[in-house]
This record gives sequence, C-alpha cells and structure tokens, in this order.
Amino acid sequence: MDVVLSPEEEAFRQEVRAFLAEKLPADIAEKTGNGFRISKQDHVRWQKILHEKGWIAPNWPAELGGTGWTPMQKHIFDEECALAGAPMVIPFGVTMVAPVIMKFGNEAQKERFLPRILSSDDWWCQGYSEPGSGSDLASLRTKAVLDGDHYVVNGQKTWTTLAQHADWMFTLVRTQDTGKPQEGITFLLIDMKSPGISVHPITTLDGSAEINSVFLEDVRVPVENRIGEEGKGWTYAKYLLGHERTSIAAVGRSKAQLRKLKGIAKVELAGGKPIIEDPDYARRLAQIEIDLLSLESLVLRTLYAESEGKPVGAEPSFLKIKGTQIQQGLTELLMEAIGPYAAPYQPEAFRDEGWNEEPVGPDYGPALAPLYFNWRKASIYGGSNEIQKNILAKMVLGL
Ligand SMILES: Cc1cc2nc3c(=O)[nH]c(=O)nc-3n(C[C@H](O)[C@H](O)[C@H](O)COP(=O)(O)OP(=O)(O)OC[C@H]3O[C@@H](n4cnc5c(N)ncnc54)[C@H](O)[C@@H]3O)c2cc1C
Repeated sequence: MDVVLSPEEEAFRQEVRAFLAEKLPADIAEKTGNGFRISKQDHVRWQKILHEKGWIAPNWPAELGGTGWTPMQKHIFDEECALAGAPMVIPFGVTMVAPVIMKFGNEAQKERFLPRILSSDDWWCQGYSEPGSGSDLASLRTKAVLDGDHYVVNGQKTWTTLAQHADWMFTLVRTQDTGKPQEGITFLLIDMKSPGISVHPITTLDGSAEINSVFLEDVRVPVENRIGEEGKGWTYAKYLLGHERTSIAAVGRSKAQLRKLKGIAKVELAGGKPIIEDPDYARRLAQIEIDLLSLESLVLRTLYAESEGKPVGAEPSFLKIKGTQIQQGLTELLMEAIGPYAAPYQPEAFRDEGWNEEPVGPDYGPALAPLYFNWRKASIYGGSNEIQKNILAKMVLGL
C-alpha cells in the first residue's frame, strides 16, 4: 500500500533507511518494536542523534534548524522511522510550542528557547487542561495576577503528559474574568523548577505513569515569559492545536503496527488455521488497511496544502478522528489475534529491568493488552473525537 514515489523520493527513502540502520541504537529499536516502554534517557539519546544529523525538526523552516523537506519527504521519514522502531519524537517542544514561539514569540524568546528545543536540552509539557476544563477549555480557572514584572499563578492543571520529566510547561492562564471567556486567556511559559509547582502522577489503565496533575501555588512567572499579548492566548492556543491534531494521525506508526499485526495474525491460530484466514478477521483487517491508505492520501494532501500556505480548515479534526480510530482498531485486532494470551496481564514482563521469567504465551504477547488499554486514550487527548465531530458538523456541514 505504498504511494508511488519519484526516483528522487525513492533515493531519499534509501538514505533515511541507511541512516536508521546505522544510527538507531538496537536496544531502543528492540524496545519500541516490542511495544515496551521507553525511558526519558532513551528518548533523549535518540533525539540527540537526530539533532546531530539535522533531522529533529522536519516541521520547522530550514533557516531555524528545520530540514527543508517536502511534505512527501516528511512522510517518508516518519514511515521509515516507525518501521525501523525509532521512538516518536516527543511532540510538546518540537511540534507544539516551537511553532507558537516562532510565529508569536519575540526575538529574545526565539533565541532563548528554540535551540534548546532542537537539542532536547529542554523538555516541555502542555498545561492546557484542568479539572472541569477539557473540552470546554475556555472555562479554565488557573489565575495569573500581575505583580510588578511577574505574574503570580495559582491553580491546577491535569492530564499533563510527561510533566514529571519536563523543564518547561506552556500554559493557558486566566488574566481577566470579564467579557467572553476566551478573551481573558494568556499564554505563559513556566519554568517547572519554579517554587510552588508540584507534580503528582495519575496511573493510567495500562498501569503506567505518563500523565500527571500539576498544582501551581503562588508561582512567580516573569512577564518576559508571556507569549504575545496578554488576553490573546486563545488565538495562540488554537494555532498550536492545529499542529497537534495533524500529528496525531500518525500514519507511519499505524503502518508499522499493521505490519506487525499481519506477522502475528499469520502465526496465531483460530480453529486450527492462521487467524488471518478467518473471513471475519480478514475482512476487518482489510478494512483497516483501506482506511489507513485513505488517511495517508488525506494527510499528504493536507501537508501539501499547508506547505503552499493554504489555510487549514477542518482537516486536522478529520485526521485526528480517523487516525485514532485506526490506531484503536489495530490494537483491538492485535489483542484478538493472541486470544486467551491477552488475558494474563503482565506489565512486569516488559517494564522491569532484570525480570527473567518466561512470559505467559508468545514473546510479543505481554505488550499487547497494555497497548490496547493505553490506546483507549487516543480518542480523548488532543480534543476528544466527539468534539472533533462537532467541529466538522459546524465547519463542513454548516450545522
Ligand atoms: C492520556 C491523556 C493525555 C493527555 N495529555 C494532556 C496534556 O499533556 N496536556 C493537556 O493540557 N491536556 C492533556 N489531556 C487532556 C485532554 O485534552 C482532555 O482530556 C480532552 O480535551 C477531554 O476533556 P475532558 O477530559 O475534560 O473531558 P470532558 O470535556 O469532560 O468530556 C467528557 C466526555 O463528554 C464528551 N463531550 C463533552 N462536551 C461535549 C459536547 N459539547 N458535545 C459532545 N460531546 C461532548 C467528550 O467528548 C467526552 O467523551 C490528556 C488526556 C489524556 C486522556
């Protein structure tokens, strides 16, 4: 199901493949390929290798450290990285806050933050959601009050992914209570080492600790860490969300999962025959492959339109819905393929260093149920799929 490539694009694919074969550490590829968890150190190790090559930020303009690739090259790169088992580049810095700093930040902010995002010396997290303010984000209550040349911030953020590792958090805070809720929101960059910040883990369904509650008590944030104008944060926040949703489609990663699924479905038996020969299973697998192929075309169309400066419309919402439905569908088929071996839940079989017992069932078994449970999140984060459907209903159908 490959798109047709020009000879130059095919040569580029080979270049990326050769780079990955030489530079992607085998231990990291092995962990990613088997669905095991990747530590922060592993992520940083890989991101620094990409940075050294100049390939960490395909979405940035070349003059600021981006690659200058065409949309097709970006797509090939993503796909090859996923197929080789490279961990995804954590998006909060490179993909999310950097475009906002580039477009709305001042020169001092660009000089201060962008190089450290490229080199992975600063890790970022996203402080948008709050208890009671997720879909209805404009209702957020974390308050920032101006005190001389500082804002004093009080409130609580929640679901903050990887906050426990972050050096910085980009946040939305309320600086005004009157007028429309959207008008009183300001975009602040907060140093996670500031006194008054505490991070508390929230355990997810698969037993991991990737999300957190973040409490802010009288946290002093220099005014120089405000992006753009006070009260205009909603505009910057929406710009960022467009970038977030397009990247959530993750076609390359789904292609890698599909390849893995086909391999497993050829050896796992149902009624004495490989499950891939079961008509119902085969039909569902084919449907996902067709959906993925369609999604790939749409992602490419969107990326080309963006690169030509055409305004982005409802596409990110559609990509988000479809991409996450495919991701969840793949995890369902993966888990179904191993049948009863999905039942013994054995996170220790892939998480704990030094665990030397045999897993129950095949080697690839223990990761599949946690993967299934973990990916239930995909239809919620980045703006839930129900809300994306509302956006499509308004923008496309005019309802
Ligand atoms: C694993 C994970 C990681 C996350 N990481 C981050 C992060 O790093 N930073 C961050 O800021 N946020 C993060 N989030 C938060 C995420 O963006 C919110 O969970 C999401 O926007 C939904 O908000 P909510 O949880 O408050 O649900 P609610 O808004 O309470 O919604 C509950 C349900 O009701 C539905 N619903 C609500 N309103 C409507 C409506 N008007 N029409 C139809 N249906 C509706 C929703 O779709 C959902 O199914 C993360 C979430 C998860 C699950």
